[in-house]
Amino acid sequence: MPDFPKDGILFKDITTLLADGELFRLSIAGLIETAGENKVDKVIGIDARGFIFGAAVADRIGAGFVPMRKKGKLPWQTIGMAYALEYGEAEIELHKDSLSAGENILLVDDLLATGGTAGAAIKLVRELGANLIAASFLIELEGLNGRDVIGEGVRIESLLKY
Ligand code: AMP
Repeated sequence: MPDFPKDGILFKDITTLLADGELFRLSIAGLIETAGENKVDKVIGIDARGFIFGAAVADRIGAGFVPMRKKGKLPWQTIGMAYALEYGEAEIELHKDSLSAGENILLVDDLLATGGTAGAAIKLVRELGANLIAASFLIELEGLNGRDVIGEGVRIESLLKY
């Protein structure tokens, strides 16, 4: 969708994919593959479209689901991280007791753009001492080099590359 939510942004709308049962099922299967043979204790989904994919992934592999939310949405004690977006600025938060040290984590979101969101999410996971196995995205905008922002040492997979 061109020029949404701001001029110059080519927004990747996933609602048509979600409405197609077979495509949605295949997407979840693909996102799970990123974890490989690793046991996943918890899946983190990023606010808000990451909740849709992350929760389905967690259910299918029998893992817990943890929402990484936009600032001010979580009711308990949180840790947070501010970051720059492709179109603006934001801060994400995680409940302090949502992950335990040593737990295996799979991060899931719909789209990797500049990598600001995922980079901040990964820092929060590490701050709580959990073990990030991989980050799994439905879509990657390769020209924005989000992988480079996230940095080395993180397994990143995406199903659709633009
Ligand atoms: P970034 O932090 O730049 O990697 O942006 C990733 C987050 O912003 C994801 O949660 C996406 O849902 C959203 N996002 C960024 N750019 C787009 C885009 N062009 N189309 C759809 N969603 C986007």
